[in-house]
Amino acid sequence: MSAIPESPPRSWAEVDLSGIRHNLATARKLSGQGIMAVVKASAYGHGLEAVASALEQEEIAFFGVANVGEARRLSKAGVRAPIYLLGGTFPSEREEVIAHHWLPCLNTMEEARHFDQLARHGGTVVEAHLTVDTGMGRGGFLPADAPAALEAIRALPGIRISGLGSHLPSADEDPVFTRTQFDQFDNLVESLPHRRELKHIHLANSAGLLGYQSRTTTLARPGLLLYGVSPLKGHGADLRNVMSLKSRIALIRDLPSGHGISYGRTFVTTRPTKVGTIGIGYGDGYPRALADHTPEVFVRGQRVPLLGRVTMDQVMADLSSCPDCRPGDEVELFGPNIPVQEVAQKAGTIPWELFTGITPRVKRIYSG
Ligand SMILES: *Cc1c(COP(=O)(O)O)cnc(C)c1O
Repeated sequence: MSAIPESPPRSWAEVDLSGIRHNLATARKLSGQGIMAVVKASAYGHGLEAVASALEQEEIAFFGVANVGEARRLSKAGVRAPIYLLGGTFPSEREEVIAHHWLPCLNTMEEARHFDQLARHGGTVVEAHLTVDTGMGRGGFLPADAPAALEAIRALPGIRISGLGSHLPSADEDPVFTRTQFDQFDNLVESLPHRRELKHIHLANSAGLLGYQSRTTTLARPGLLLYGVSPLKGHGADLRNVMSLKSRIALIRDLPSGHGISYGRTFVTTRPTKVGTIGIGYGDGYPRALADHTPEVFVRGQRVPLLGRVTMDQVMADLSSCPDCRPGDEVELFGPNIPVQEVAQKAGTIPWELFTGITPRVKRIYSG
């Protein structure tokens, strides 16, 4: 109705859902196993509900979330695939877990006894997986204790253990340790007397799926690779880019030689410079730490360097090589032309943190 057009977003993230489906198919083909799609932390910043509904038609064995808050969002969104809680639960959350048929992982006997008590009280049985700590140090039973714990929990009438999982701390960094870990995990599973009752056996994250083989697992739990990024060098050629972080040139100005740019004046022009001001900053999750490592952005078919520090809402780029650049032009911060790994590395971080750090101010725009 209004005659005044709504302004376009300053910064946005284009999310190609068909790319996620492609990467899921790749994960399935490479692993030859069922898939627990890891969608914690709002699907690594891509948007929990949108990603889950895009994957729902794809026969996902489980959606893996970090906590009850995320499980609640998936249930509200009407997701039908089983929802698995990757982390431990607080005592006050467990009634809700049981009521919604979310699958908890059991890390301690205390947790198990409490779930058993609550389930029996409610006249039901809670299905759960056992977590074994084969090296992550974050949760689960130690391998030496796992067989006895499994037997003890089998005796609890309120719990049905249908799976067993463990996690890899170093699959993208330490192949020797990881190979040993796979072997120990497989040996443990093969030694369990009631192994056949465990329908779901899982160990591999993205790096584990790409680089290693197990004799016993039935499921892989990829996160990062669904979002188009391989944590292992030399893999990932068959993955598709999913998120492109974008903004626009707001201003273009000609500055003389000797003019400082941005806070701290860490950059001073050494020649007349055409400077573009772009509407994105660390308030959007574009890391301030980048500035010391000559980040580049992509505009009108070319890479151009940023100048000076990243500010909260804006960054400056050297557009001297781009006579055709105009205010309003789209700028890619990462995506098909600027790999997210490159940006993460220059910022001294990892793609997982970069994705999950993109703030709510950045509008997610879906296609595919
Ligand atoms: C986050 C997580 C994953 C997925 O890890 P990626 O490296 O992103 O593939 C798998 N399993 C567990 C237990 C996790 O916490």
